[in-house]
Amino acid sequence: MNDRPRKITLDQWDDRHAELRAAGLNEPSYGGPLGRHAAQGDVRLRKLSFDNSPAALRLWNFLLSEEDRLRDCKARGKKLVGAMKDLGTVPVMVYSLPNLAAFYPDGAWWLPCMKENRTDLLKIADSLGIDDSFCPVRAMLGAFVNQKHFPLPGLLTCSVGATCDDFSAIAQRVESLGFPILWWEIPHRRRPDGDEPVVELPGGFTAPETQVAFVRAELERIRRALADYAGEPLTDELLSAGIERANQVRSILGKLRELAYCANPCPMPALEMLIAEMLAIHFCSDHNETVAVLAELRDEVVRRVRAGIGVLADDAVRVFWVNPVADLRVMNLLEDAGGRVCGTEYLFCHALDPIPADLPPMEALARMALADPMVGSPRDRTGRIVADIRRFGAEALVVSRIPGASHCAWEAAAIGEAVRAQLDIPMIDIEVPSLADAMRPTLRTRLEALLETARTRRR
Ligand code: SF4
Repeated sequence: MNDRPRKITLDQWDDRHAELRAAGLNEPSYGGPLGRHAAQGDVRLRKLSFDNSPAALRLWNFLLSEEDRLRDCKARGKKLVGAMKDLGTVPVMVYSLPNLAAFYPDGAWWLPCMKENRTDLLKIADSLGIDDSFCPVRAMLGAFVNQKHFPLPGLLTCSVGATCDDFSAIAQRVESLGFPILWWEIPHRRRPDGDEPVVELPGGFTAPETQVAFVRAELERIRRALADYAGEPLTDELLSAGIERANQVRSILGKLRELAYCANPCPMPALEMLIAEMLAIHFCSDHNETVAVLAELRDEVVRRVRAGIGVLADDAVRVFWVNPVADLRVMNLLEDAGGRVCGTEYLFCHALDPIPADLPPMEALARMALADPMVGSPRDRTGRIVADIRRFGAEALVVSRIPGASHCAWEAAAIGEAVRAQLDIPMIDIEVPSLADAMRPTLRTRLEALLETARTRRR
C-alpha cells in the first residue's frame, strides 16, 4: 500500500480506492470512495488533485462527512453548540463536556466553492441585504435559512469586539432572523502601558493582565451557559482534561507541519496540509477521530521523509502562504506552477499553539483567545509571519486576499511593507474568489513570475 507518493485526480482516486480495498484496506465508518462526495454535491472535488496516500483518503473522507456526523451526534442525543468566529477557543470548552459537540457554522465559507455555487446560499444572503460586498462567510446566513447544510445547534455563541465587520454584521443578521446568540467580547489586544503588568500569550504575543482578566470573565459566562445547556457542571478538572486533549491534536499537527513544510522533497501537498490545519479548530466534530486522522497523516509523512520521497520536484520554490483561499483549487495551482507551501498563517495560528497546561484552565483559555492574530494589531501579526518565514526558510511570500473581507483592504500592503523591511524575499498579493477558474491564467502567470523571481535569487 505504500506506493510512490503522487497527486491524482478524483477519478484516479476512485480506481485506487477499489484497489486498496481489494488489497485489504480497513476504513473507518465514514470511509469510501471520494467520488461519492462529488455525486452528492461537492462538485469542486472533480477539479482538484489529491495526495494518493490512504492517510489522505481518510483525511478527505473525515472532512467531507462532517454534516452526517453532526446529524448522527444529534440523533444519538448529543447537544450541538454552534461556535462562531473565535476559531479555536469555545470548542475546547465544549468538548470538555461529554454530551456536547461543537462546530463552526463559519465553515459554510467554503460551500460556494465546494458546490461551485450550485446552491441558493448566496442568493438568500443577497435577499437579506448581505451582498457580495461581504466576504464568502455570508454563505453561512443562507445555510441558517435553508437548513440544508448543518443541523441547527441548540446553543450559538459568537465572539464580538475585535472581530471583522463582516462577521459581526452577518451574525447580527442571523440573530435578527430568530436564532438567539450568546455574544462574548474579545477586546482589541493592545500594547501594555509603561508599568502595566504584562502577560505572555501562547505564540509569543503579549497583553495587559487586565485584558486577560476581562476575557477570562467573558469565558466564564460561556462556561456557565455550556454547563446549563449540558445539564452538568463544567469543572476545572473537565476543562484541564479538555485542554490536554486539544494539546494532543496541536502536538501531532506541530510535528506534521514541521516535517511537511521543512523536508525536501515536499512530503505532503499544500491542500491536504490546509485541511489538516483546519482540524485543529473544532476537531471536525470528533476529537478522537481527529487524533487518529492526523496521526496517520503524520506517520505517512514520516515514512516519506525517511525514504527521501515526496510529491513535488526537489527544486520547488518554498512559499509562505498568508490567509486561507476561498477556492481550494488555488493550492493545487501553486504546486502546478512549481511552488510548494513552506509555512502558513491561515488566520487561526492561536488554534495551533499549545495551550499552557500549567495554569488554571480558564486563565489558559483566556490567554489563548487573546493570542488570536486577528484581534491584535497587524504589526503583531506581521511580526509572527516574519518569524515563521525565517523558521521555515521560505523563499517567497503570497498574501491571498479574500473578496469583500473587511480585514483585507490594506493588510497585504502592511504585511508586504514589513516583510520587505526585514527579509529579502519576493512577495505578491492575489485575490482569490470562491471560484477562481476565470482568473486561473492570470493567477498562474503571477505565481510563476513570483517563483521565477525567487529561483533567480538562488543563483
Ligand atoms: S472578513 Fe476575514 S476574518 Fe472576517 S469572516 Fe471573512 S474571512 Fe473571516
